[in-house]
Amino acid sequence: MAMSCDHPDLLPLEVALQRLWDALPAPALPDVRAERDDPATDRAAMDGVALRADEGRAPRRVLGTLFAGDDPSAFKVTPGTAVRIMTGAALPAGADAILPVEQLRATAGFIHPLADPQTGDHVRVRGDQARAGDLLLPAGMPLNAARVGLLAQEGLPLPLRRRIRVGVASTGDELVPHPAPYQIRDSNGPMLAALAHTLGAKVDLRSALPDDPPALANALRNPGDIRILLTSGGVSMGEHDHLPTVLKDLGATILFHRIRLKPGKPMLAALLGDLLVLGLPGNPASAYLNALLFLSQALARLEGRAAPDPWRRARLTASVKNKGDRPLLHPCRLVDGQLEPLPGKGSADLITLARADACAWIDQGGLDAGVKTRWLPLP
Ligand code: AMP
Ligand code: MG
Repeated sequence: MAMSCDHPDLLPLEVALQRLWDALPAPALPDVRAERDDPATDRAAMDGVALRADEGRAPRRVLGTLFAGDDPSAFKVTPGTAVRIMTGAALPAGADAILPVEQLRATAGFIHPLADPQTGDHVRVRGDQARAGDLLLPAGMPLNAARVGLLAQEGLPLPLRRRIRVGVASTGDELVPHPAPYQIRDSNGPMLAALAHTLGAKVDLRSALPDDPPALANALRNPGDIRILLTSGGVSMGEHDHLPTVLKDLGATILFHRIRLKPGKPMLAALLGDLLVLGLPGNPASAYLNALLFLSQALARLEGRAAPDPWRRARLTASVKNKGDRPLLHPCRLVDGQLEPLPGKGSADLITLARADACAWIDQGGLDAGVKTRWLPLP
């Protein structure tokens, strides 16, 4: 039967990614305000001596040493004296400059400046970074490691940095450990578990599920302690592709099903209560690439990070055809920073995917040698 290959209803990749993003809750960063002046006292910014600049190069008697964290009230710098001081230590009263160790000579009990200190030299002045109450970060910013550091600095509650738990379950009656010629091993399960681990998830790899609606429903209804379930297979148009119907029957919200990407047309995402189900296509290259795109997006959102942009750009060393109606992700090797397309056999071809370093984005109609295109590293 002749069928049109055009699928105007397929969702573009960026739209599907955005839809997933919008459907998931993110821990929000509150307004971050300075708890106190930063720094809260004048501080040494170098290892050296704290002294009075107006005495120039006159020798100073050393009163003692201040380390970071020491109470500076133990010392008062009076004319003719100085205090040894380490980076981060509070300035003692009476001192107005730090003379670095590199600019002085020490003799028993004294230091002799080799340069003229200037008022304020190597001193971090109280409040020069921020004043108590200043707005340091407005609410709603995505979390990153530096912002977690700032929350800690201001004594604010820290977001939970637990790894998100991801279950991985393949589907398919053909998946067995010791396959007859008409059966196969479950390669997607271990592959997706490895990928989820690399992307920062805590992974629970389960045994493959049969192509049986009650068994699928049972697995979805009792997912255990996971936030995301990655399935592979059973989302296409075959007579045993039960997952979309089972999800709908369970009352799941289908975020999208079928996207404009090759490989990956049958890709599905759904919310079943709090559980995000990423229904990946069964073909291995398809499962891998869609997990890479959609799981990265979901993890970033749930962790409160900015949306990931995994794309890089490079030139193709040879042309790649794409006669299909969808953009193509084509496996390539990276050679001197350029993309060398591999002769691949499509979405079922795990051998070529395993030989590749990258997948290049090939627009509909194909791309010529020398053209710059975006590509994904394959973690
Ligand atoms: P499906 O979408 O379930 O029709 O699967 C598409 C193709 O991917 C079929 O050839 C399946 O045998 C194959 N496939 C499905 N699941 C896996 C798996 N876990 N490991 C390897 N191949 C699979
Ligand atoms: Mg199947």
